[in-house]
Amino acid sequence: RESWASAFSDSVISSGSDSEDQVFKVILLGEHGVGKSSLARIFGGVEDLHDVEEAGNTYDRSIVVDGEEASLLVFDIWEQDDNHWLHNQCMKMGDAYVIVYSVTDKASFEKASELRIQLRRARQSEDIPIILVGNKSDLVRSREVSVEEGRACAVVFDCKFIETSASLHHNVKDLFEGIVRQIRLRKDSKED
Ligand code: GDP
Ligand code: MG
Repeated sequence: RESWASAFSDSVISSGSDSEDQVFKVILLGEHGVGKSSLARIFGGVEDLHDVEEAGNTYDRSIVVDGEEASLLVFDIWEQDDNHWLHNQCMKMGDAYVIVYSVTDKASFEKASELRIQLRRARQSEDIPIILVGNKSDLVRSREVSVEEGRACAVVFDCKFIETSASLHHNVKDLFEGIVRQIRLRKDSKED
């Protein structure tokens, strides 16, 4: 009888904290200059601080997705310094990852693959949401990575894919909403 009662109270506590109070940690990864800080600032609603080089920032915001509120804590700290401890920490702490490259920079696309592999190694048995983001889609004439290449890479690496333009605010909202949906999908399938 006692164990039944404690099992019940446990489930009440966990369902309460899971559905409403939890803050999801989202980590931005990617090479310098691809647009991580621009995307993070748009999410945080502070994009008027244009082109300020910051050491590292986090943005805490609730958004409503499919009629339900979700709290995201977005970390733009990957480039804070070239510190192994910080990078390891980043690889461990995220509930979801946004791997950004620039469609105008092939090397940043290759770096994104590397980061995906590192992440898989760090979180081997876990099924964490990852979104591959091709940013700067507005720079049509200097494009070096096609949409098809981006999409194919995401298929190989088993993650979601979206192209964005931080400059035009194109698809940025969809990106963060997509993250919330990915997190929810995995939670729901775990609970079944
Ligand atoms: P980070 O180093 O990854 O944080 O990249 P930043 O957000 O600092 O962006 C690097 C540069 O690219 C800045 O000059 C931004 O204004 C510019 N930038 C970022 N996103 C876009 C975009 O979608 N389109 C264009 N044309 N420029 C962008
Ligand atoms: Mg930055």
